[in-house]
Amino acid sequence: RRTGEEAVHLYKILVVGDRGVGKTSLIQRYLFGAQSVRPRLTIGAEYSVKVIEWDRDNTIQLQLWDIGGGDTPDALTSAYYRFAVGAVVVFDLTNKTTHDGALGWREDINDKIGFPDGSNIPFVLCANKCDLVPEKSKWTTDAEFIGCFATSSKTGTGFDLAINALVTQILCHS
Ligand code: GDP
Repeated sequence: RRTGEEAVHLYKILVVGDRGVGKTSLIQRYLFGAQSVRPRLTIGAEYSVKVIEWDRDNTIQLQLWDIGGGDTPDALTSAYYRFAVGAVVVFDLTNKTTHDGALGWREDINDKIGFPDGSNIPFVLCANKCDLVPEKSKWTTDAEFIGCFATSSKTGTGFDLAINALVTQILCHS
């Protein structure tokens, strides 16, 4: 690549988590801001594109795949995993079982895809609906996530930080 030439990176990112944790709402808020439309049930999967002028040399075209459908991974959802280079796993801070669900989604993705060298794709964890719980409410998770972020699609907090952490990691390893 000649100096001064801009690189455009296309990254497919999965957004997964149990039904109702707020995946669609987070993506819409991220793309369209506060005036985003009311979320509908996601059938199967769909993706949205966000273009990020990352720095002078790099433009990122982010394909955000909202993997919907049932409460748990199934054969249909996993068909959408192919070629993903990172994943955002979302759980609902007001619903403890969705945290177990988040770990299940991560495991399912790791079972089915990975990089050619055998390593797993990077994951970030979004603890969503943080607007509904006290600020200092405690939750823990494990180190397999490159980062954990308290997010809210109501206030708009956190999700951009989660995406930036993921993109930073992907750029470092590409
Ligand atoms: P999905 O099934 O994971 O795509 O979840 P949705 O985006 O459809 O959201 C499910 C419900 O949770 C909807 O009624 C949303 O308005 C609500 N919701 C999503 N994110 C938040 C949030 O951050 N805070 C609050 N209070 N509600 C949220």
